[in-house]
Amino acid sequence: MPSLDDYPKIAAGKVRELHAVDDDHLLLVASDRISAYDFVLESPIPDKGRILTAMSVFWFELLGDLVPNHLVAWDDDRIPAEVRGRALIVKRLAMLPVEAVARGYLAGSGTVDYTRTGKVCGIELPDGLVEGSRLPEPIYTPATKAPLGEHDENIDFAATVEEIGRERAEQVRDLTLAVYRRAAEHARGHGIILADTKFEFGVRDDVIVLGDEVLTPDSSRYWPEETYAPGKAQPSFDKQYVRDWLTGPDSGWDRHGSTPPPPLPDDVVESTRARYVEAYERITGRKFADWIG
Ligand code: ATP
Ligand code: MG
Repeated sequence: MPSLDDYPKIAAGKVRELHAVDDDHLLLVASDRISAYDFVLESPIPDKGRILTAMSVFWFELLGDLVPNHLVAWDDDRIPAEVRGRALIVKRLAMLPVEAVARGYLAGSGTVDYTRTGKVCGIELPDGLVEGSRLPEPIYTPATKAPLGEHDENIDFAATVEEIGRERAEQVRDLTLAVYRRAAEHARGHGIILADTKFEFGVRDDVIVLGDEVLTPDSSRYWPEETYAPGKAQPSFDKQYVRDWLTGPDSGWDRHGSTPPPPLPDDVVESTRARYVEAYERITGRKFADWIG
C-alpha cells in the first residue's frame, strides 16, 4: 500500500490537495478544512473531506450518461490508507481556463452584477428580481479561474470564446446547463434547491471531460426548500451555523477587519458536521455511515 508521501504534491488549494500518481493519473485529496468569508478557519469539520468526496462520487455516477468524467477509483489499493474515503484517483486532464457556472437563482455575485447592470455575465434578466429569486430559466455565467487568493471574475460568453475557441466554449456551456438541470431536478425531488454550481472541465484525447469536485456544498449553493424565501440572503445548508456564530456577538470577530476568525466552539463544529451529513444523506438517499474510510 502506498503512502501519501509516495505521490508528489503538485498543487494545494484552500481545501484540497492534488498529488501525482503517474503520468495519466492524479490523487485529489479533500481535507476537513472549511472556509468562510474568504478565510480558511482554524477549526476543521470532522469528516467533511469524506462527506464531500462521497457526494462527488454519487454525482459522477448519476451524471455519467450526460458527460464523461475524470473519476477512476475511490476504493483502490493505489489510495493511501491515511486518506481513504476522502481521496479520488482521477484521470489527469488539461484543464480549461474557465469556471463553468450555472445559475437557476439569483445570489451572491449574480445579484451584485444584476443590481448594477440588469445583467449577469452579459445575459439580460427581467426587472424586479431580488436576492434569491428564481430565474426564468437557468443561465450559464462563466468566470475566470483566479490565481490562489484572488477572486474569480464573472465574464461573458464571448470572453470564453476568446479563451478556448467557439466550439469548446459552446460545448462547455451546453454541458454545464444540461448537468445543472439534471442535478437541480434531482435535488428538488429531495426537498433541496440547487441555486447554482460551478464545474471545471478538462480535455483528454480531444474530448471534454468533467473534472474537479462536482456538486458539493463547496462548489454549489444548496438551500433547504423549507426555509426558501426570496428577498434576502438564503440560509446556507452547510455553513449557516459557522456564519451565524462568526458574525454574531459571541465570536468577538470583525468580519470587515483583517484579523483571521477565532476557532469555532465545539457545538458549532458538531452542528456543522451534522449539517454536512444531512446534506449528503438527503441529496443522495445514502447513509454516510456506509461510506468508506
Ligand atoms: P480553491 O478551490 O481553494 O480556490 P483551487 O481551485 O486552485 O483553489 P483546489 O480546488 O483545491 O484548488 O484544487 C483542485 C485543482 O485541481 C484545481 O486547480 C483544478 O483545476 C485541478 N483539477 C481538478 N481535476 C483535475 C484533473 N482531472 N486533472 C488536472 N487537474 C485537475
Ligand atoms: Mg477549487
